[in-house]
Amino acid sequence: MSASIIDGKKVADLIKTHVAEDVKHWVDGGHRNPKLQVILAGNNPASETYVNAKTKDCIEVGINSETLRLPDTVSDKELRAVIDKYNKDDGTDGILVQLPIPDHISPHAIIEAIDYRKDVDGFHPMNAGRMLVGQPSFRPCTPAGIMELFDYYSIQTKGKHTVVVGASQIVGTPMAMMISRERDGGKSTTTICHRYTKDLTKHTIDADILVVAVGSPGLITEQMVKEGVVVIDVGINRVADHTREKGYRLSGDVQFDEVSEKASWITPVPGGVGPMTRAMLMKNTLLAAKKAIYPEAD
Ligand code: NAP
Repeated sequence: MSASIIDGKKVADLIKTHVAEDVKHWVDGGHRNPKLQVILAGNNPASETYVNAKTKDCIEVGINSETLRLPDTVSDKELRAVIDKYNKDDGTDGILVQLPIPDHISPHAIIEAIDYRKDVDGFHPMNAGRMLVGQPSFRPCTPAGIMELFDYYSIQTKGKHTVVVGASQIVGTPMAMMISRERDGGKSTTTICHRYTKDLTKHTIDADILVVAVGSPGLITEQMVKEGVVVIDVGINRVADHTREKGYRLSGDVQFDEVSEKASWITPVPGGVGPMTRAMLMKNTLLAAKKAIYPEAD
């Protein structure tokens, strides 16, 4: 079997077109444009790239965005003060602190400092908890984007066995929750694997759907999957490549060439999950502007 490609770029463009139409409608109705405040602390080159891409997306859909750049010496107290300012600012709908933040600051505490009603990344415990109990919440953008891909390509999740490799708070864990629990598009039987999983292949070989979010280039090989598996590769890794102008290329966590020979569907890297994550951020920011998740904030 040779896999069909799940074109995240195409689906993300469609979602952004819908968001742009919705934003126009919202503004035509007498509201101001939604506003996303990005906070970037430190000089992580990958973060710079992500933030630039998000800014470009905002311009495309009519969301105003501003990026506050802070030095990597910024203190926890200073960062919280900045967040607090945007929490209180009626002109700011969404706040995104680009991760990772400098090592001396706890990301958990910083995420919790964001007003959950402006937490468009969906990482705040209030949103994570509400998602868990099936209440309206800002859903984390990467797993939410993957759920959209299943929907767009009519990939059945109900009753399937999904194996999620990687259990981070921002990708693997919410992915496993969504795909096993959500009323629409979920209802999978789900296995979560992580660093301490003994014999990873024993689990991945049994997957009907395999979602990999580890950050280890080429971790998943052809021997680890069964014929017909649906593969979602979340990993974005910079692999040294001196034939490229930048000196690196982007690679996923899956050995694409060999695994795509066995899979029925597969996401490429780049052009798979990444654009979907950004499109869902646009969607969440519009929801925040409309106070669609937390109307009591009116
Ligand atoms: P993370 O916070 O570092 O989490 C990685 C997870 O993988 C952890 O749960 C870790 O287990 C687990 N793990 C590590 N080695 C493993 C192994 N050999 N076998 C099985 N599990 C293993 O990373 P993340 O933020 O979730 O991101 C993961 C990857 O996705 C990265 O490449 C990142 O750049 C990419 N990413 C892409 C997007 C996108 O939009 N495409 C968005 C976010 C992240 P422990 O919990 O035991 O440490």
